[in-house]
Order: sequence, then structure tokens, then C-alpha cells
Amino acid sequence: MSPHSGLALPARKVEYLKFIFESGGTARTNDIASAFSVDPSTITKTFAELTSGGYLLHTPYRGVTLTDAGRRDAAFFIRRHRILSLMLVRNGLSPKEACNEVRRFESMVSKKAVDRICEFMGHPRQGVCGEITHDDEESTLNAERMALKMSLEH
Ligand SMILES: [Zn+2]
Ligand SMILES: [Zn+2]
Repeated sequence: MSPHSGLALPARKVEYLKFIFESGGTARTNDIASAFSVDPSTITKTFAELTSGGYLLHTPYRGVTLTDAGRRDAAFFIRRHRILSLMLVRNGLSPKEACNEVRRFESMVSKKAVDRICEFMGHPRQGVCGEITHDDEESTLNAERMALKMSLEH
């Protein structure tokens, strides 16, 4: 499965990429190991997988850096978390409950679904655990929809 499909990665890898993104795009094995209470050898193995998957570049002794594709996907993973958690908050959950629930299933939700929910919610800017950014693909999608809508109205 190609990256950026939204279903390419299991939950744990999604969490690591979000963490690296929010740490400025680079991280060391030990940063992740301590943040997630995981054995460093497990992280090394996961980093190797994410490197061969095209998400990370590995620099010996300096840790990992997100590739352009990794950065784009990580930004989407964060938006997906924030859109879905905001959706649950608008349906009665507390922010903390929403974040915890979403973490259990967010890695299963496709980009297409997230883009549509985002649009339906009016591209909200503020999530329950941070700002929500919107990507270029979404605006292309919106521009196409607007053009279609206008041509239908005539
Ligand atoms: Zn959250
Ligand atoms: Zn949006």
C-alpha cells in the first residue's frame, strides 16, 4: 500500500511519526523509547521499517528525520486525530475522552473520509488538543467541488 493512503500504517507507527513531526521533524531512538515507554531495540527495528517504507531517513548516531512524504503523512495523521476528536467532542465526549477514544481507531480512518468530515465540519481551525491545519489536496478538492457546483447552478 502506498504511503499517504491513510491506511498504510498501524497505530503505533502513526503515533511515532506524529511525535517526530511535533518534535521538529527529527528524533533519536531514546526520545521515542522514553516517550512511549518502549524498549529502544524495538524502536530501532520500527525505525528501520519506517525508513524502508520511505517515511524516515536514518542518520547513524543522530537518529531519524522525516522525509518529505513522511512529513506530509505525519501532518495528515495529526489533522486526522484532531478532526476526529473534535467530532466526538461535538457529540458529547470530554476532550480527554475524545482524544483517548480516537487514538484507538484513528489509524483505520481513510484520508478520503477525513477530508470529507473536515469539509462537512467547515474546516475547523481549532481542535481539542491543538490547531488544525488543512492541506493543498483538500483545497484542490474544494475548488473542484465549487466549480462543479457553480456549473450545476447555471
Ligand atoms: Zn487529541
Ligand atoms: Zn480541512
